[in-house]
Amino acid sequence: MSADPVPPPVLPVVTSAVANQSEQECTLCARLRRFTSDDLVHESELWVAYTMDVYPWMITLATRRHNAGLVDLTAREAAELGPLSVAVGSAMTAVWTDRVYLVAYNEGVTHFHAGLLTSCPEVSSAARAAMRERAERDGGAIAEAREGARKVRDLLRSRG
Ligand SMILES: [Zn+2]
Repeated sequence: MSADPVPPPVLPVVTSAVANQSEQECTLCARLRRFTSDDLVHESELWVAYTMDVYPWMITLATRRHNAGLVDLTAREAAELGPLSVAVGSAMTAVWTDRVYLVAYNEGVTHFHAGLLTSCPEVSSAARAAMRERAERDGGAIAEAREGARKVRDLLRSRG
């Protein structure tokens, strides 16, 4: 990363009905309560990074706070997103692949969340279907996801 600090952007304040969704109705909040330390790659006051059984080739970065998506990030959340994306992506390239893709669709849950995807050949609809089937059958995919997540977490910690 560059040694020159980038001035923080001036971010608009956006409110939305989706950002006011209660925690009881939120699938991500429910998932975060169920996650074990094996599922989590990184935690901070503002962000969590985790893996899931149905997407073992992906680490998801999500705000802890409900919001309406990218344009609703606070300045502090936005300031942490860049370095966190680079740190997790860099660790993923050391563990899994030479490329990492960052995508954010922000559908379905009321947290800004972005997926860091590996460029592994398993990223195809057929592989996804097979992995979902296997995850449901024997939990193998989550074991693989957790092992990969553990390596990424260890690498992040070793890098400070
Ligand atoms: Zn939530």
